[in-house]
Amino acid sequence: MQVLVLNSGSSSIKFKLFKMPEETKLCAGLIERIGHRDAKFTFSTQKETLQLTRDIPNHKVGLEILAKKLLHKDSGIINSTDDINIVGHRVVHGGKLFRDTTEITQAVKDKIKSLSTLAPLHNPPNLEGIEVAETIFKKAKQVAVFDTAFHQSIPDYANKYAIPIDFSEKHSIRVYGFHGISHEYVSEKAIQYLGKKHSKIISLHLGNGCSITALKDGKSMDNSQGFSPINGLIMGTRSGDVDPSIIFHLAEKYDYSIDEISTLLQKKSGMFGLTGYNDLRDIKAEAKKGNKACQLALEMNIYRIKKYIGAYAAVLNGLDAIVFTAGIGENSSYMRQHICEDMDFLGISLDEEKNNFDSNTGIKAIHSDTAKVKLLVIPTNEELEIAKQACDLLANNLN
Ligand code: ADP
Repeated sequence: MQVLVLNSGSSSIKFKLFKMPEETKLCAGLIERIGHRDAKFTFSTQKETLQLTRDIPNHKVGLEILAKKLLHKDSGIINSTDDINIVGHRVVHGGKLFRDTTEITQAVKDKIKSLSTLAPLHNPPNLEGIEVAETIFKKAKQVAVFDTAFHQSIPDYANKYAIPIDFSEKHSIRVYGFHGISHEYVSEKAIQYLGKKHSKIISLHLGNGCSITALKDGKSMDNSQGFSPINGLIMGTRSGDVDPSIIFHLAEKYDYSIDEISTLLQKKSGMFGLTGYNDLRDIKAEAKKGNKACQLALEMNIYRIKKYIGAYAAVLNGLDAIVFTAGIGENSSYMRQHICEDMDFLGISLDEEKNNFDSNTGIKAIHSDTAKVKLLVIPTNEELEIAKQACDLLANNLN
C-alpha cells in the first residue's frame, strides 16, 4: 500500500510517500514559495536529493511536478498515479465537527471550508491541497487528519473560556488545541517506552510553532494553544499568552486596525519581535556574544515553558515523563537543560552528558539515573502518524 502524505500551507507543500504497513519512507520533500517565479522543489529518496528552482504559480502546478517526479522513468517510484492508494492530508482545524480522522467527501470538504473562519491561514490552503490531489491521484482515497482532533478529549472545565456560555456556543469558542498529530505520535512512543498502562506525560512540541500538552493515560487533558495557535508559549513569530486588554488598548488608544494587531501578534511577535531573529540558533549565538535582547528573550521563553510544566504537573497530579520534540525540542540541548533546571522538587533532573548527544533518530533518555521523571527526546513524525491513521481508518471501514 502506497500512502502519500501532504501538508499544504499557503505557499508550501510538504510531502512524504510511505509504503505501509511497513512504514518505509520512499521519498520526501518540499515545494516552497508557491506563487513565485523562483519557487523551490526539493525531492529526496534514499539515493538522491534533487532541487529545482522554477515558476510554480499554484498548488496544482506544484503537485503536477511532484507527480511527474514520482513517475519519472529512470528515477521515479511509481508507474502510474493510480499506484497511490491513499493521500493523507494534514488539516489544521477540525473545529467541533471532526473528532476523528475522516475519509474526504464533498460534505467533508464543505465542512473544512466552513471552518476557515476559525483558521483563515491554514484551512483554505489545506483544502486547496485536497482539491488538487483529487484531480491528480484520481483513484486514491483522500483522507483528512485533523490537528485539533486529538485534543477533543480536553475536559469541559479546561476547554471552556469564562465568557457567557451561550456566546461560546453560538460562535464556536473553546480551547481547540493544536499540534495534535505530533503530540499523539510522540506520546504513543513515550507510553511504549514507559511500558505502563496508566501514565502522566507532558509533551513539549517546540518548533517554529510551540505547544505543550498534558496527557493522562494517552489522552490530551489540556494544550497551551487554545482557540487559535497564537496562545501559550513564546514562539518564532507568535506572542503566546497576552492579556486581551493589550488589543483594546492598541485599537482604542492608538488606532491600530484589527488586521494590524493580528499581524503584530502572529507574525511580528514571539522571539522575532523580541530579538529580530526567529531561529533559535541565531538567538543563542547572539546571546553568547552578549546581545542582551537575545539573552532576555531566551529567559522569557524558558520561564514560560517552566510555568506551563508546573501547571500541567498540578493538573495531572504527578508526572512520569516529559517529552521534547520538534526542531528546538529535538535539537537544542541548551533549551532542554535550562527548561529542566531548578525543577528537582517535581522529580525532574537532567543528566548533562546524556543531554549533549549529537544526532537523534530514536528515543533518547536524558534524565539522571535517580530522577523520578523520565526526560525523553523523541523525534516527531507527523507524516507517518497521518499515514498510519489514514490506513487504520480505511482498514476499519473495510471490516
Ligand atoms: P515547524 O514548526 O516549522 O515544523 P520545526 O519543528 O522544523 O518547525 O522547528 C524549526 C525551528 O527549530 C527553527 O526555527 C529553529 O529555531 C529550531 N532549531 C532547529 N535546529 C536547531 C538546533 N540545532 N538548535 C536550536 N534550535 C534549532
